[in-house]
Amino acid sequence: MTDPRKPVLTGGCQCGAVRYATYAAPYAVNICHCRMCQKAGGGPNMTLISNLAANFAWTRGTPASFASSTLATRDFCRDCGTPLSYRGPSGRVSVSYGSLDEPTKVAPARQYGMEGRVAWIDHLAVLPGSRTEDDMTPHELAAFVNHQHPDHG
Ligand SMILES: [Zn+2]
Ligand SMILES: [Zn+2]
Repeated sequence: MTDPRKPVLTGGCQCGAVRYATYAAPYAVNICHCRMCQKAGGGPNMTLISNLAANFAWTRGTPASFASSTLATRDFCRDCGTPLSYRGPSGRVSVSYGSLDEPTKVAPARQYGMEGRVAWIDHLAVLPGSRTEDDMTPHELAAFVNHQHPDHG
């Protein structure tokens, strides 16, 4: 199944069973701190890239879905568990930041769910940090194999 439209953003799950594409600039990019997004995404918040449903398509596989409330359905890969999208009453499809092939192409413009925002978010800039490879021994680095699907088709 080949869509004649040119994708603007693409993404998918970590095992590669489910892939998607968007075909227009995002409708909105938001970060949500609410407790439901924390649980659905497995992190302190979810950054969601909202798209009109007409500008979104699953391009490989079919995700599993969970109706996390009377208002929202969350889609994820049934094989590897990657959170992929949020569908709410607006009819839009919002994909998860981490599932994008090129997440740095977007940045949030608004925050929601402020009641759930964790206080330590404000202190990230001053925490000590290191790069992933700096925390691995040369032996670990040499033996390391990434089993995740690459960030493309
Ligand atoms: Zn998967
Ligand atoms: Zn939320």
